[in-house]
Amino acid sequence: MELKTHQTRFFERFHRATRNHICPECGAKMSTVNKNYEGCSVFVWYECPEEKCPGQWLQRYSRDDI
Ligand SMILES: [Zn+2]
Repeated sequence: MELKTHQTRFFERFHRATRNHICPECGAKMSTVNKNYEGCSVFVWYECPEEKCPGQWLQRYSRDDI
């Protein structure tokens, strides 16, 4: 039961971060800090703008999506 709740929370945060680039730690809007092109993929780093927050997010796109 507890595990399920934990998983649900994780996926909620995951989707917020993925779709809206909301910091999974504090809920602030993250900003793009870097983009790496590798083959057909683009890896985008997002970082939380809050000074004391360690939140960051790496997302992979297909080149066709960007
Ligand atoms: Zn944050």
